[in-house]
Amino acid sequence: MAEISSDIVVVGGGTSGMAAAVAAAEKGTSVTVVEKAATTGGTGNMGIGLFAVESKMQKERNINLTRGEAFRILMTYNHWKADARLAKKYIDKSASTIDWLQGMGVKFANVISTDPGAYMTDHEISSPEGYVGPQSSANMIKCLTVKARDLGVKMFLRTTVKSILKSQNQVIGVLAYNNNTEEELRVNSKALIISTGGFGDNPEWIKKYTGFNWGRDMLSFRIPGCTGDGIRLAWEAGAGASEMIMHMIYVCTEGLGETTQEVDLTIASRQPNLVVNLLGERFFNEEMMDNNTFTGNAIAVQKDRTVFNIIDKATKDHYEQEGLDLVYGVMPKTKIESLEAIMKKMINQGKDIVYIADSLEQLAEQTDIDYEGLVNTVEEYNKACETGCDEIFEKSPKYLCRPVIQPPFYAFKLRPGAYGTLGGIKVNHKLEVLTKNYEVIPGLYATGTDANNLYGDSYCFILPGHTMGFAVNSGRMAGENASEFVNRF
Ligand SMILES: Cc1cc2nc3c(=O)[nH]c(=O)nc-3n(C[C@H](O)[C@H](O)[C@H](O)COP(=O)(O)OP(=O)(O)OC[C@H]3O[C@@H](n4cnc5c(N)ncnc54)[C@H](O)[C@@H]3O)c2cc1C
Repeated sequence: MAEISSDIVVVGGGTSGMAAAVAAAEKGTSVTVVEKAATTGGTGNMGIGLFAVESKMQKERNINLTRGEAFRILMTYNHWKADARLAKKYIDKSASTIDWLQGMGVKFANVISTDPGAYMTDHEISSPEGYVGPQSSANMIKCLTVKARDLGVKMFLRTTVKSILKSQNQVIGVLAYNNNTEEELRVNSKALIISTGGFGDNPEWIKKYTGFNWGRDMLSFRIPGCTGDGIRLAWEAGAGASEMIMHMIYVCTEGLGETTQEVDLTIASRQPNLVVNLLGERFFNEEMMDNNTFTGNAIAVQKDRTVFNIIDKATKDHYEQEGLDLVYGVMPKTKIESLEAIMKKMINQGKDIVYIADSLEQLAEQTDIDYEGLVNTVEEYNKACETGCDEIFEKSPKYLCRPVIQPPFYAFKLRPGAYGTLGGIKVNHKLEVLTKNYEVIPGLYATGTDANNLYGDSYCFILPGHTMGFAVNSGRMAGENASEFVNRF
């Protein structure tokens, strides 16, 4: 067994782990990162932007949201069901974290809002060449990794931490296994930071702790390696459990928009048209289709967590030839020229996610929607489109323009989806891990997704960039705090 020693060991070299490693090393502490995958970054290689408030970029753009306002918005959103001191510290630090990242060479393209009614807090990361979009946050990970190496951080890739070593109540290191060399590694340390990205890649835990059935009523991203290891390790070391939820968005396709065709279907399925549940009833105001959190939550409380967005031929033709009703910033398509062809292809591939039917009866048969309920709802909805008045949900007349009249009818199956999970390890406002009795486990810290309980029961869409924002800031804070802890020895 190989054995090394370092002041701090970071379990997981993803977003928050790399931020923690750099922050601790900047304080002069020796740091070792142990990462399961072949590269650093984890989920941080997938996204676009991170939250900050009162940053220089915001001030330059006359975005005047203050730290105090952001704090009040967050705490109102989560109903104060979160550690308010941690929330405040994170928000207060967020602007300086943008400077900190820029100092390492991270490029930001813009500050945007991603959801209707949301504030301009999402700082979009770009590649050095100016690419901004899915996975551009990998450029931030690259800069953090280079900085960590420059600061002398030791990094072990393809190495999985298997257990936390403790002596009495104190953490003293980890035991890990190098999946490449098949050798064991012992890292002795005075402090330990757990940053393993939650349990989005663990369907069994998703079922056990959130009640969703992965692949059936939950189509979440499974970032390889995020199997809840750090949460389990912390619990084994005496940590208390915190609330565990899905980080809700919603999607229709099983491939989660990885191919162009899946993206096209996702966009078409998120248009603000008639949406019914399996009873054939409307259950929400479809003009909210562009709010992932609300739509995901509304779907999650329907029968089988399954609903259908239904259009007719006239609407399908309109989307192919004229354009869409809603254009999404992250998937900025204005038309889907071959919508019907894509749907037919999916049907021919045997995918039970889109349907084309010559009658409502046939559509009900294909989808298992209650036929009588569907007929009544279509009649009611068409009347609302005709009069411009939706008595059930007061949908804006602007979106009451697509009645369901002309066959064939097209339907998209929608189920809740998620970026991953949130929560699991109880921490205090210093990111110190707590027992179930709220006692600090000396030297043990947790960050990012494993420790994120800031939103109450749903992702805080109103302040966009929040999960990556919390990951980077909590990592930075834990790195600084752990460094201070080891310097007390
Ligand atoms: C497609 C997608 C897009 C997203 N876009 C955004 C966005 O634009 N803005 C935003 O705010 N949020 C976004 N998010 C969420 C955000 O990226 C995550 O919340 C954040 O990156 C999580 O950071 P983390 O440090 O907690 O975990 P991660 O970055 O996932 O890091 C965890 C690391 O731990 C490693 N690990 C796990 N177990 C072990 C073990 N036993 N031993 C060693 N290593 C281990 C993993 O391999 C991984 O590298 C997105 C998520 C997804 C899936």
